[in-house]
Amino acid sequence: MTLPNPAPSHAIRAARTALVRPAVSRPAPELPRVLTGDRPTGPLHLGHYFGSLLNRLRLQSEGAELFIVIPDYQVLTDRDTADQLPFFVEELVVDYLALGLDPERTVIFRHSAVPALNQLLLPFLSLVSVAELHRNPTVKDEIAHSRQAGVSGLMLTYPVHQAADILFCKAGIVPVGQDQLPHLEATRTIARRFNARYGKGGSPVFPVPEALLSAAPLLLGTDGGKMSKSRGNAIALGADEDETARLLRGAKTDADRRICYDPAGRPEVSSLLLLAALCQGRDPHTVAAEIGDAGAGRLKAVVTEAVNEHLRPFRARRAAFAADRAHLRAVLSRGNERAREIADATLAEVNAAMGMA
Ligand code: ATP
Ligand code: MG
Repeated sequence: MTLPNPAPSHAIRAARTALVRPAVSRPAPELPRVLTGDRPTGPLHLGHYFGSLLNRLRLQSEGAELFIVIPDYQVLTDRDTADQLPFFVEELVVDYLALGLDPERTVIFRHSAVPALNQLLLPFLSLVSVAELHRNPTVKDEIAHSRQAGVSGLMLTYPVHQAADILFCKAGIVPVGQDQLPHLEATRTIARRFNARYGKGGSPVFPVPEALLSAAPLLLGTDGGKMSKSRGNAIALGADEDETARLLRGAKTDADRRICYDPAGRPEVSSLLLLAALCQGRDPHTVAAEIGDAGAGRLKAVVTEAVNEHLRPFRARRAAFAADRAHLRAVLSRGNERAREIADATLAEVNAAMGMA
């Protein structure tokens, strides 16, 4: 599988500069820790892949210590019950392993297995105002797509919970999609405020983490909105080739037969072009020029071929990992244990800094 090389955004240039070094196969302690995660609400999709997963793989190969949280509590932010949770959690692990995330170098764990991480929510909640929580644009968007009639406290405090996810291991880099930037900003605020209020002698307790965006920070789904697990508009990484073709045939485009790459003016067509280009390691303008005025049907055929071709080796590996459920559980259990050790130490440090130890 050829991995495309997403360009870093302005927001993460500093973090990237620190990371440009030859690949090594063991953790490099001088690199910042990396934390990211995916809600266990459904299968991972192409938006995850190009938005965050490839950056995780690259950071892993650069020697960074990687933490992947499966935030099971956060499933309940926008629905009443966490349906099929054990299945979705294990399927995420299948995807991670099939992609090449290596449990020897990357800690994969679930929220609910790490009590001290969740306890960090209490001191962190004291550092943000209700008005700030109400202003968060991602929370507003999630509320608009929520399956609940009202807004739960868990939904409103989502960004603070996420700060606990990121700061429990003192992560310095967070590879995410664009929708997560407001949350990351909340984490940065919480880290700064905690350090200012409780850091002794100018020594900060927490780093102020940087977001790492990719060249596809907001891949669109088949309905033209953000591709999301929960919005019925996603192409799962593990989908088969016929399903991929069927979903892409139904993707929203526009009436102009001339295909060109214009993300602002023609977002749906451009997102499809970007998808094909990333799969083929090419420029979206070149892909568009080759299609010319052959229309959306040809565009969709090109994208389908590119996606299926690119994901073929991953999909074969995925089937092999999915067959060994005991291994998936062992990976999680080891990750949970490592995350607990780190969270216990961070909570002890936080309590000491606050005079509560
Ligand atoms: P849900 O609908 O349950 O919220 P989701 O598809 O939005 O699921 P998340 O688990 O919320 O996925 O997000 C996991 C990570 O993937 C986050 O870093 C998020 O920014 C990134 N991501 C999600 N969707 C996209 C997308 N369409 N394009 C780029 N990155 C994405
Ligand atoms: Mg989401």
